Amino acid sequence: MRACGPCTECCFALGIHETNKRPFARCEHQGKGCAIYPKRPESCRTFRCLWLDEGNPLLTRKDRPDRTGIVFALGDMAFGGQVALAWVRKLGADTKGRGLELMTAVSTVLPVCIMRVDGTRSISIAEDHAHRLPAIREEFNYIGVVEDGILKRRRLPVAP
Ligand code: SF4
Ligand code: SF4
Repeated sequence: MRACGPCTECCFALGIHETNKRPFARCEHQGKGCAIYPKRPESCRTFRCLWLDEGNPLLTRKDRPDRTGIVFALGDMAFGGQVALAWVRKLGADTKGRGLELMTAVSTVLPVCIMRVDGTRSISIAEDHAHRLPAIREEFNYIGVVEDGILKRRRLPVAP
C-alpha cells in the first residue's frame, strides 16, 4: 500500500455527506493536514483512491492524484456492479496526455464515471461494457457523494 504523502486531492474533490461538503470545494477542516483527523468523518476514514494500491498495474508511482489532477476510486452501484469513479480537478486533465492514457486504461477494465470541477460529467466505457451504459447513466445522474463506496441515489449540488 502506498502512502498519501503530500497529496490531499480527495479532501478537495469528494463530497462528504457527514459535513455537507460539496464536491470540488475546499474542506473547512483542511489546513496543512486535517484539523479533525482523529475525529474525521467515516467517509474520509474509509476512502482509498486507486493510486494507493501499489498492486494496481494501471497507476504508476508518478500518477499520484495531486500530480495528475485526477482521483480514481472504485464505486459500487446501488443496483449492483462496480464502476470506477474519477474526480477531475484540472480541466482537460482527462482528455490529453497522461490523464487520457489513464482514462483509457482504466475504462478497459471498468466503466469510468467522470466528474469534473466545472460540474460536467461523462462516462468512459469500453465496447465490452456497453450493455451496462443505460443503467450506469441513470444512476450517475443522481450521484453526489460516495458513502462507504456506495453511489447513493441522491442529488447534491456540484461545484459550478
Ligand atoms: S487522493 Fe489518494 S493519495 Fe491523495 S490524499 Fe486521497 S487517498 Fe491519499
Ligand atoms: S474532514 Fe479532514 S479528511 Fe475529511 S475532507 Fe476534511 S480535511 Fe479531508
